[in-house]
Amino acid sequence: MRNYGEGRSIVARLYHGSDILDGILSVTEAEGVSTGVFEAIGALSSVELGYYDQAGHKYKSKRIDRPVEIISCIGNVSIRDESPFIHAHAALSDSDFNMIGGHLLGGMIFAAELYMHDLSSGKVEDLVRIPDEQTGLHLWKGR
Ligand code: ZN
Repeated sequence: MRNYGEGRSIVARLYHGSDILDGILSVTEAEGVSTGVFEAIGALSSVELGYYDQAGHKYKSKRIDRPVEIISCIGNVSIRDESPFIHAHAALSDSDFNMIGGHLLGGMIFAAELYMHDLSSGKVEDLVRIPDEQTGLHLWKGR
């Protein structure tokens, strides 16, 4: 557990035709965010979702090649392999109002609005992801 200060709020429009994870990462890079949390809403023209197989320690993925609404995309920014890393999950709905969701592996932006809360203060060390044998994931390093 770590305590961060108040932080800094950033809002950004993510651009049509670009990948949503690339768009979020570009905001972190432009604003110097190394630790933070975010949410986004909007719409994607296609998306790739992941589901982590806890027994097999690997993601299975599903690509959806049709437009979806981003009902809720939430995630965080931390450091993995010495660079900012985006971890995002998304709840989406299709034209029949059916919900789908999962770990966000990528998605083509139709329109998206990002709210990011920058927790990088320089006073508290950045969150860093390291390999975790128990889960097979890269999880936040304890202190
Ligand atoms: Zn995830």
